[in-house]
Amino acid sequence: MAGVCRVRATARAGSVKPGRLPLARGPLRCHPHRTWHLIARPVQAHNTVICLDPPPMAGIQDSDELRAAVFAFLDELQREHGPYLTRGQINSFAFDGQPLSLMVQNGIRTPSRWPDPLSITSTNRSEDAGGYTDEDRGEGLRLYRYMRERSTAAPALNRSLDHAAISGRPLVYFIEVGERRYEPVYPVFITGTEHHGVIVSDEPASGEYAELVDLRRYARREARVRLHQREFRSRVLFAYSDRCCICSLRHRGLLDAAHIVDDAHEQGVALVSNGLAMCRIHHGAYDQPLLGISPDLKVEINGEVLGEIDGPMLRHGLQDMHGRSIDVPRRPTDQPDRDRLAWKYGRFKGLSA
Ligand SMILES: [Zn+2]
Repeated sequence: MAGVCRVRATARAGSVKPGRLPLARGPLRCHPHRTWHLIARPVQAHNTVICLDPPPMAGIQDSDELRAAVFAFLDELQREHGPYLTRGQINSFAFDGQPLSLMVQNGIRTPSRWPDPLSITSTNRSEDAGGYTDEDRGEGLRLYRYMRERSTAAPALNRSLDHAAISGRPLVYFIEVGERRYEPVYPVFITGTEHHGVIVSDEPASGEYAELVDLRRYARREARVRLHQREFRSRVLFAYSDRCCICSLRHRGLLDAAHIVDDAHEQGVALVSNGLAMCRIHHGAYDQPLLGISPDLKVEINGEVLGEIDGPMLRHGLQDMHGRSIDVPRRPTDQPDRDRLAWKYGRFKGLSA
């Protein structure tokens, strides 16, 4: 199979100016392959040309088998250690006896001489702390930024991410949930490029890899969650140690990351401080709202519901929760925002009156 590599538009002859592509065919420096290529079929795009020359052989080669082995390895790690992994655990992968690290902190992992990245990592640091802000693009899409919007540096288009948008190869998306723990989401696909980032999707852009990768096997252990909600969910559940903040239920498959101010509202940002880990029943009751949480973290049950007589779910699941204090994360920045709690509590009081 011919490899596809992107070649920087700097000809050896030095006749090429930035932004002007060589029209004549000739040797060009190929960065991913670190070699000179004779470009057989130059194609113009983003100040780069694409060559269809095969990449030189060296080290561990990328293959569908290798990527399938990576996904199976992550399945295994999560069965053993739970959903949140350390970098050391993740980077203990080996293929055919050769070690291969799967992630780099806060970045794009493209093994040497590979045209496509193996993983991208989404940091939970704010822009002020040196992180990049990713954005939801709806429909399960996520804009992964590798450069700050306000940066004055020239957009250093990352060739391997750009390449992944062409090849459609599946990769791993590591969500940094906090305390140097990462939750892997896989397979994901790069389906487009933008000025400072790439669009990440949980579905392939073309059907080619849908057949190579058994999507049903990998993505569906939990009820299917869109990638853009996935990051919020991972971080909130991690902060709350996978427990419902009201009843302490610890059954991850029955837990949600509830928004305090819902995401349709302009204050409804996907920050942990706007989230609460809740079981399905309490999430539903909080959204209705049959259940309120006061800014001083006390649970209140709607007066009418308190007076009802029904089975054990009503009595133990709702009525017994009245007056309890919710459990909140240890880290102050993860704790629920009091102003947002007050806003939601106001709605509960208004609708319960
Ligand atoms: Zn609960």
